[in-house]
Amino acid sequence: MIRIETETDVLYAAIAAHRPSWLARAKSRKAMYRRTGRYVEGQDFWGEIKDIYIELQHEKCAYCETRLAGRELSSKVHEVEHFRPKSRVKTWPPATGKGAVGFVPPCRLGRASRRGYYLLAYHPLNYVIACTRCNSTLKADYFPVRRARSTRAAHPDTAMAEDPLLIYPLGHLDVDPASLIRFAGVLAVPRHDRGRDFERALVTIAFFQLNHQDLCSRRARLIGALWLSLRTRDTPGLPALLIQYHQQAVDAAQAAAGEFAACARDFVALHATDPALADQLGEAAAAMSW
Ligand SMILES: [Zn+2]
Repeated sequence: MIRIETETDVLYAAIAAHRPSWLARAKSRKAMYRRTGRYVEGQDFWGEIKDIYIELQHEKCAYCETRLAGRELSSKVHEVEHFRPKSRVKTWPPATGKGAVGFVPPCRLGRASRRGYYLLAYHPLNYVIACTRCNSTLKADYFPVRRARSTRAAHPDTAMAEDPLLIYPLGHLDVDPASLIRFAGVLAVPRHDRGRDFERALVTIAFFQLNHQDLCSRRARLIGALWLSLRTRDTPGLPALLIQYHQQAVDAAQAAAGEFAACARDFVALHATDPALADQLGEAAAAMSW
């Protein structure tokens, strides 16, 4: 997971340019929900601004960083995810199903709510694009929090008082995900070893199953290729053109558009500070991906 860089005013301007009436319609929908005291299903239009998030996120899932198919297929593979569930919240982890069954929580994870965060159903800072696995299978109607739920919050900023355990990666409402989660080779691990930041990382990793075998094996392919580029780039006597070629590959892997960029960034940092360990992990990853 990486921070999806944008500023609030830039996001709002992009929405206004893309669908001039969207923000006004969102405002009146919110006023209607305020009157009814809950989210009411029907004629939903958040999908109209999906393309803006797809572009901001470089066509990647906000949580697992899997690259999704291009915009032409967006209606099928990109899902607009409400970070805070709009219509109800269930307790997590679930007793059965595909969630992190058996996960032992490090702290309180909040109660269920029959109301949901109804005033955030049309808030642009309550959306990201996510893959079907992260959004429908795992996220569903769950939203673990440490304190009392702010289901009446009209802005995600004020809802932060509930002390969410998941990390919102878009913009600057929340901390940079990389400050909480790091990658040890292919594995996502908490960056801190105790306290609130540790608990948020632990819950987020378990919630989105960031160490699922499928994700780990795809990250292994990335690290294997990255390690070869780093090693080749640093080979004494290599022609300048080849050094440039491999440096470009290293840069592309770490760029926001790179699939699993958070993992790539930590591996490149490790290669600079502890090349022996990076070699060990890189060699193992390359062997896994052959
Ligand atoms: Zn995902």
